[in-house]
Amino acid sequence: MGSPRIHAIRTGLVQVRRAQMASQGSGPGRVTWMLFDENWTEWLPIYAWAIEHDEGVIVVDTGETAQVHVRGYHPSWHPFYRRAVRFSVHPDEEIGPRLRALGISPRDVRHVVLTHLHTDHAGGLAHLTGSKIWVAKQEFERAQGWGGRIQGYLPHRWPKWWQPEWIQFASGTVGPFKQSMALTKAEDVLIVPTPGHTPHHASVIVRGSPSFFLAGDTSYNQQLLLEETCDGVSPNHAVTLETLRRIRRLANEEPLVYLPSHDPESAERLARASVLPDLTAAAARIP
Ligand SMILES: [Zn+2]
Repeated sequence: MGSPRIHAIRTGLVQVRRAQMASQGSGPGRVTWMLFDENWTEWLPIYAWAIEHDEGVIVVDTGETAQVHVRGYHPSWHPFYRRAVRFSVHPDEEIGPRLRALGISPRDVRHVVLTHLHTDHAGGLAHLTGSKIWVAKQEFERAQGWGGRIQGYLPHRWPKWWQPEWIQFASGTVGPFKQSMALTKAEDVLIVPTPGHTPHHASVIVRGSPSFFLAGDTSYNQQLLLEETCDGVSPNHAVTLETLRRIRRLANEEPLVYLPSHDPESAERLARASVLPDLTAAAARIP
């Protein structure tokens, strides 16, 4: 059995306000900060991931769709879409064509895991007609109806045929993560709960040496994880920080490559298998 091969799939670019990437303060005012911050981030990648595994192909997140450029795709009444986000997605960058370019037929994808349901993670669902598509039930419920749309989800854009499979954490511990869900019989691809950015956000670990952490939006980049800086979206900072620390603890227990969806350096870290620094060891070396 070969070790699974992971591909970074860039499904276009996104820009957000700086205050979304790194929170300004922790009160309710930080949402206002996000909308009225004049400073944009640089153009950030929107990554999805494909894992070529002996038991079948697993895709993590589906990226964004080029439909974002069609007038009316985003709700024009929504302040976030009016003020706080810009997309650049070409039709060839959608996950379907990207998978085909890798020699993977989208219909052969066995599992899709959605870290959460924000549009730039669920926008490519229409390409994945033959897969089991896993998401946390509470995340799905949060995205429903007008409540979901006010929070920026676009449930009316999901394909009508989609029947989600609910993630259930019935497998054992993975380092500091008390629960997991194994996606493969080999138990080397596991979903773990990483609440924070959304309350039922999940991440995927591909275990090996090193292991790879497909992080979704636990933080917008690796530096923010190392600094333990909370994003501007997380409803509860304490929960987000707990997750960031848990990821750091896992990285101290086993070599771990950290791959957030919007980190410009994720693809290179994947290619070089650059692991997170073990900061407990680094601290111990300081005399
Ligand atoms: Zn998100």
